[in-house]
Amino acid sequence: MATKRTTTKPPKNPAPAPVEPASCQPCGGTGNVAITVRVGRKRRPVGQQDGLCLNCLGEGTAPDA
Ligand SMILES: [Zn+2]
Repeated sequence: MATKRTTTKPPKNPAPAPVEPASCQPCGGTGNVAITVRVGRKRRPVGQQDGLCLNCLGEGTAPDA
């Protein structure tokens, strides 16, 4: 028994409009975050250094925006 196709599929939605890349939260879109350097058993902070943002991996844009 062949079933008749009476319904036609709607055309695929066009590609969504490009969304503006949201800036990454932890680094604020710079791709770098300040990491506090700690030394010693008491973990005394001695300064800060730039570190790669692990959320966006330096892209500066939120990966799951
Ligand atoms: Zn980031």
